[in-house]
Amino acid sequence: CGIVGIVGRDAVAGQVVEALRRLEYRGYDSAGIATLEHGELRRRRASGKLVNLEAKLAEQPLTGTIGIGHTRWATHGRPTEANAHPHATARLAVVHNGIIENFRELKAELEADGVRFESETDTEVVVQLVSRLMDRGAKPVEAVAAALPRLRGAFALGFLFSGEDNLLIGARHGAPLAVGFGHGATYLGSDALALAPFTDAIAYLDEGDWAILTRDGVEFRDATNAVVERTRQTIATQA
Ligand code: GLU
Repeated sequence: CGIVGIVGRDAVAGQVVEALRRLEYRGYDSAGIATLEHGELRRRRASGKLVNLEAKLAEQPLTGTIGIGHTRWATHGRPTEANAHPHATARLAVVHNGIIENFRELKAELEADGVRFESETDTEVVVQLVSRLMDRGAKPVEAVAAALPRLRGAFALGFLFSGEDNLLIGARHGAPLAVGFGHGATYLGSDALALAPFTDAIAYLDEGDWAILTRDGVEFRDATNAVVERTRQTIATQA
């Protein structure tokens, strides 16, 4: 299973799939991608291998220059298209690896607040929680900052927001996550291998960190929301 995100200059769907292919070795049962098309979230998801997702993209291409992708190893909910990531509301889309251990409690709280769930996954509580915070007026970065401390478990997350074509957020809590620095583009990935085709400059998030990516760079925050520096490394690139 794996996570990919790209804030790019040209259409990113092809690069997202390429990066997901480099994470195939981890194993997965379904895959998906979301991009912004004229500011609106669009998803393609498929159970089974990446070729199934590619076939969907060939029929219905995505042209957005910002996007997230996912290969899923189902832990909660069957490996169906409806349970495949990204999970989304009108406001945001989320990819997630790992487990949200307190999802039942969060789901009950959100359902009591009138939220209706579309999948059987633990992941969907993250999307619905952030979406609800945004309904109440929080901006994307504030909403993620408020939501992360409520999540228990081991996970890595990637967030893409409707109407925000220069913003991706990644979060690491018990599962590795790296960012990559390109020319007018930044990248998010489960490991450096996934990012190697695009850049040789990467940095790993520390445990508990989250990162705010734009085309111009990356801001790292630690678990207390303090802005922190993380060391850049040079990796071997592969064409
Ligand atoms: N727990 C999530 C799910 O079942 C994510 C699984 C994964 O790591 O891919 O959908």
